[in-house]
Amino acid sequence: MGDKGVVGLNSQNQICNNCSRGVYIGSGRFVNRIPDLNDMETRVDNGLKFPEGDYRCEECDEKCHY
Ligand SMILES: [Zn+2]
Repeated sequence: MGDKGVVGLNSQNQICNNCSRGVYIGSGRFVNRIPDLNDMETRVDNGLKFPEGDYRCEECDEKCHY
């Protein structure tokens, strides 16, 4: 729990956990990215292909409302 925020700052986690596209600054998806507050286990349960990503891009968020 405590180091979750630190992990979130790691640029390799700044990807969409559904499509793996980058949502880092300069990617073009930074502004509309949605932080995924679930832990990795929950993301795996949700069937996400890239559970290491801490975000969802806008496009994927429109597809999956939960
Ligand atoms: Zn996506």
